[in-house]
Amino acid sequence: DRGLGSWPARRARIDPDATALSQAGRTRSYRELAVRTDRLAGGLAALGVQRGDRVAYLGLNDLAAVELLFACGRAGALFVPLNIRLVARELAFALRDSGSEVLVVGPGVDAVAAAVIAEDVPLRAVLSIVEVPGVASAPLEEVLLGADSAPAVACASLEDPAVLLYTSGTTGRPKGAVLTHGNLTWNTLNQLTHVDVSRRERALCTAPIFHAVGLGQITLPTLLKGGRVEVLPRFDAAGLLRTVEEFRASSFACVPTMLQMMVDHPSWPEADLSSLHTVVYGGSAVLERVAAAWRERGVEVVQGYGMTEAAPGVFMETPADGVPRPTSVGAPHFFVDVAAVGSDGRPVPLDPSTTPSELLVRGPNVFAGYWGRPQDSADAFTGEAGDWYRTGDVVDVDDEGRVRVVDRLKDLFISGGENVYPAEVEAVIASLPGVATTALVAVADDRWGEVGAAYVTALEGVTLDPDELREQLRTRIAAYKVPRWVFCVEELPMGGTGKIRRVDLRKRAADDVA
Ligand code: AMP
Ligand code: MG
Ligand code: MG
Repeated sequence: DRGLGSWPARRARIDPDATALSQAGRTRSYRELAVRTDRLAGGLAALGVQRGDRVAYLGLNDLAAVELLFACGRAGALFVPLNIRLVARELAFALRDSGSEVLVVGPGVDAVAAAVIAEDVPLRAVLSIVEVPGVASAPLEEVLLGADSAPAVACASLEDPAVLLYTSGTTGRPKGAVLTHGNLTWNTLNQLTHVDVSRRERALCTAPIFHAVGLGQITLPTLLKGGRVEVLPRFDAAGLLRTVEEFRASSFACVPTMLQMMVDHPSWPEADLSSLHTVVYGGSAVLERVAAAWRERGVEVVQGYGMTEAAPGVFMETPADGVPRPTSVGAPHFFVDVAAVGSDGRPVPLDPSTTPSELLVRGPNVFAGYWGRPQDSADAFTGEAGDWYRTGDVVDVDDEGRVRVVDRLKDLFISGGENVYPAEVEAVIASLPGVATTALVAVADDRWGEVGAAYVTALEGVTLDPDELREQLRTRIAAYKVPRWVFCVEELPMGGTGKIRRVDLRKRAADDVA
């Protein structure tokens, strides 16, 4: 077994008694983690989970969910962590699309879990980490205790799929990005070449594990090195500052909004951050004042640029001891190739003469395609061998070689680290009663980076109420996708070809929300 599922046992040969995982005082040594991984894998097999089957997880970050990730690897199954911010309809889609056989329900999702199960998704079993009211489920711990050890057949190779991560798309239909054991392993090695993670690490797993940042940055690198990961169920600024202090945390990964919320929190000045050496963040750039505030406190704040499809690391800032940091995403990871789309559409070297242009990425960390979508998978790649992933991000390289993300070809914006695809939201708005046409654009926001502003026209004779529309949307799409502003207008700005002029609308939205 070369897969993730073998990591606990491999590490246990080196440091059996070192603590691998902890959560609020509960701990697992590497030896315990190895034993429990095998038993849980055996338990899944006893439930009928076979190699290649999908096991979904819906819940807050939890020690047992990290164990489940390893156990799935051991059993040869794909771990499918679902975004807890989605509503039941969206979650049911991901469960059906992935064909998940088993759903494991974790803490913090009682209402939505009950609602998803009511959607009648065909599942072989529902397991739970904590009892979920209104949901018939078997305790995960019982499955584990009832089993001996891993099934003999499971023996993952690096090419085997390990994790399915759902990301929305420009078409509005979410797709499951297939990350193999190799993708996650190579990303781990890439991270370790940029960030000094050691076996003395005391890392916090605070970014949600249903995002590539939560799994790929800090958490897996720390576990490969034999350090300790404290699992944090939910983020709040004061709580995280307190945990850093009490746990004497040395590192964590997050999104820019989290860093900013901590800096702006009243308890920031008193928080003891002396144990912390590195914070890795990704998804978008953080405000310079926020990065500066962390650096003043002696914390190395490192920006990563990446995406789900790259498991996720592509570029990372390089610590430049004492030198003011240039505004760039840093250097490509060790085992990653980058290129630009040339004028003939073919990959060309990334340099000042070829950019601004779309960034292409190739490497052993780049995903294996979208689950069950051969066309989307083929479209995602270019080049002679079809192995360059088209990021959809436009980057610019300046004369000093600094790389910056300057635009996105894919129509999406990022709100507090979550991607919002206007096409998906517009389709839902358009389905509401009384709505004729709609367009969603992003506007800058101090806290979330960007938020949505929707423009809506009504069917003849109908008067729409913005607040009512937002209320209706809340039951149909995740809260972070619900536009902050809804403007009911007479008409939308149309171009000559009958397409909505988004550039005009964006300018108008910036004024309308000011
Ligand atoms: P996701 O697949 O959800 O991880 O989102 C990936 C997208 O986030 C990328 O394609 C970029 O558009 C954006 N992104 C990630 N990291 C950065 C960064 N450091 N700066 C700017 N945009 C970023
Ligand atoms: Mg993102
Ligand atoms: Mg994406």
